[in-house]
Amino acid sequence: MFNKKTDAKELTKKLFFKRKNAWDSIDEKKIKELNKYSEEYMKFLNDSKTEREVIKNAIDYLIPYGFKDINKTKENDKVFYNHFGKALGIFRKGKKDITDGLNIIVAHVDSPRLDLKQHPLYEDEELVMMKTHYYGGIKKYQWLSRPLAMHGVVVFPNDKVKNIVIGEDENEPVFTISDLLPHLAKKAQMGKKASEFIPGEKLNIICGSMPFSDDTEVKERFKLNIMEMLNDKYGIKEEDFISADIEIVPAGKAREIGFDRSLVGGYGQDDRVCTFGAMKSIVDAKEIDKSALVLLMDKEEIGSDGATGSNSVFLEMVVGEILEKQGITNVNALTKILASADCLSSDVNAATHPDWKEVHEKKNAAYLNAGMVLSKFTGSRGKAGSNEANAEFVAKLRRIFDDNNIVWHISELGKVDEGGGGTIAKFMAYYGMNVIDAGVPVLDMHAPFEVTSKADIWMMYNGFVAFLCD
Ligand code: MN
Ligand code: MN
Repeated sequence: MFNKKTDAKELTKKLFFKRKNAWDSIDEKKIKELNKYSEEYMKFLNDSKTEREVIKNAIDYLIPYGFKDINKTKENDKVFYNHFGKALGIFRKGKKDITDGLNIIVAHVDSPRLDLKQHPLYEDEELVMMKTHYYGGIKKYQWLSRPLAMHGVVVFPNDKVKNIVIGEDENEPVFTISDLLPHLAKKAQMGKKASEFIPGEKLNIICGSMPFSDDTEVKERFKLNIMEMLNDKYGIKEEDFISADIEIVPAGKAREIGFDRSLVGGYGQDDRVCTFGAMKSIVDAKEIDKSALVLLMDKEEIGSDGATGSNSVFLEMVVGEILEKQGITNVNALTKILASADCLSSDVNAATHPDWKEVHEKKNAAYLNAGMVLSKFTGSRGKAGSNEANAEFVAKLRRIFDDNNIVWHISELGKVDEGGGGTIAKFMAYYGMNVIDAGVPVLDMHAPFEVTSKADIWMMYNGFVAFLCD
């Protein structure tokens, strides 16, 4: 009727944005690579349930590819910097000098969990229990009535270290936190708010119920029995828990989800999905012009504070060491390099939940299978507590990802007034560098069993490689 010359459908295609589904861009050949990748990733998840295990397995992964401990080598082209076994910097020299640019990917290796208290062990009603203090943002009820494993280290005053892993092998026992039966929960739980019906002090794990002897005169004979077993197996006394990092995590392996096996379910995917992708991409990227740095950081789930968190001078420690090895002594070099770096703060995003759409704003939400997901800013309620990536940097990434056929989208974490979350991005932005959040959408984030899509995790890995190769 308006006598337009262009076909409406054609024009729509040309002008409108349409979100892609990553599976539509994956052919037979790619599916094989994708399956291999997700298999390897799931194995990494199974073997890496604490921040210490992630760092140890990352180092074991890097060494065969020629990466060396920066403190034990004179070389400076492929090195890693290990801090307390909880944070790791992985550096690979590009064809150009580090002063000509640095590409950084940073991910975090800690996940929500329950930590044993320093005096954990006690006996109550002839059951032996251990007290915990939760770490990170958890919905406490999700940790009840399920098999739990114990992972950690005990460090003795003579510096000897004992590793403890119980509950992952089928033949090993597990632990559990017992919930209250529904028959008796009416007053104690059912009328209360979800944030209140499981007090933190009731997150105590059951770890035994047999007495040491039938001499009922012996005080705490049930606790004594467990203490004797621990002493036999690990050489520990009750006092040794004081100098231990012991974490309670969901027992069991990551699994494929769905008839079509298209999804990955498992503990700690926030943010080990990005950790694995970042670690693999710095090894696999073929020719890199600019130098690359992957940072695997601890303490993100509690605000990135602490010696191994991103709100520390770890980045300066790592890059400073590399500069010294490369003979760059200009006092301004470090500041300049960091200020001109490009950084992907690689962390997960909230996938739109089909049953809880009301918390998302659908035009600007993340979706499972829509590929890698970027967030221009994080924070909450009016962008508070976030950095925001410049349009120029976003434009550069559009070019990189589109040129390399990476399926990706961009999202905000939830509706404007709904909530939100911070990440490592702002601590990187502190140095003046370009930084943006880049990860994959996750369903049920922070739950003991988180869900990701195989298509997304593979797209993200390829996105990382493309970023490092640019
Ligand atoms: Mn995270
Ligand atoms: Mn998290």
